[in-house]
Amino acid sequence: MTEKTPKLRAALDDVPTYKPGKPAAADGPVAFKLSSNENPYPPLPGVLEQAVAAAGSLNRYPDMACAGLMAELAERFSVPLAHLATGTGSVGVAQQLVQATAGPGDEVIYAWRSFEAYPIITQVSGATPVQIPLTGDDVHDLEAMLAAITDRTRLIFVCNPNNPTGTVVHRAELESFLDRVPSDILVVLDEAYIEFVRDPEFPNGLELYRDRPNVCVLRTFSKAYGLAGLRVGFAVAHEPVAAALRKTAVPFGVSHIAQEAAVASLRSEDALRERVDALVAERARVVEGLTAQGWTPAVTQANFVWLRLGERTLDFAGACERAGVIVRPFPGEGVRVTIGETEANDIFLRVAEDFRKEL
Ligand SMILES: *Cc1c(COP(=O)(O)O)cnc(C)c1O
Repeated sequence: MTEKTPKLRAALDDVPTYKPGKPAAADGPVAFKLSSNENPYPPLPGVLEQAVAAAGSLNRYPDMACAGLMAELAERFSVPLAHLATGTGSVGVAQQLVQATAGPGDEVIYAWRSFEAYPIITQVSGATPVQIPLTGDDVHDLEAMLAAITDRTRLIFVCNPNNPTGTVVHRAELESFLDRVPSDILVVLDEAYIEFVRDPEFPNGLELYRDRPNVCVLRTFSKAYGLAGLRVGFAVAHEPVAAALRKTAVPFGVSHIAQEAAVASLRSEDALRERVDALVAERARVVEGLTAQGWTPAVTQANFVWLRLGERTLDFAGACERAGVIVRPFPGEGVRVTIGETEANDIFLRVAEDFRKEL
């Protein structure tokens, strides 16, 4: 007789697995990791020292309320403390938002292709994902997302800029969308890449959320601030959403080191701006290079570019890897390539040029 295995929720059966960006090979030729939208710079000035000092109290639990970080965030972003909630990366906060709003029978709407964590956290909650294809320009189709709302809709993600395409929705469209979403459906503006945006028509969620109690803004320290390894992000939302986030948080999720490093990063604003400006300049150089080669990359406002390669996607990713850069392929669709070190971007441009000639 075979032993029975523990009963697991059927909802888990179809949950896709998160594919992390492939790491650079330790033994290969020069290898740069351009597959996870990480920051190529080391931690901001003062951050490592603060993190090392914080490590001295590893025997203690962290401050569960993240009081120091919350106070710093409230001041930096001019929001009330009661509207803030922190979590283990903004993915952690996004999962808490889904848990707080949607379960079996409920629907969560998001664009597709978009951030690959959305289907995972939706399905783990037992809710039903409703994926709305991007437009031909790889932009959110807000009208179609609106049309997909039903009595069962509980949450809508708007990833702005969108991962993996880098495209943005503009202020007028987003405001018109928000004005038409019923006020009892939570709209989450995922702004993981906002620091890299230079489009003047981009809507800052922190301005939009103020008079809209059903809008929540997600931000992270993982990308521009360069703290991906520490897992800290935050949400800005009105009550009762912010209160729900405090309830769904894993106790002590954000480590003392992460809290202290995040505070030190917020205090290093000038260095942050310099680095982000340098990456934005590199982005412009890469986009110009690709365009000159004959590519038409999606219009990106993030720290990555998206090339639609269809059936050639894996070939292209393989060519990049052989040349020393690891990119992120989405088989059959395209590749997402993070803007990294100048040398890495140069290698990517060379591969793109050679590949273009063969098309
Ligand atoms: C990288 C990313 C995040 C941030 O993830 P963390 O959990 O904060 O590291 C959130 N949303 C999107 C769309 C991202 O690409």
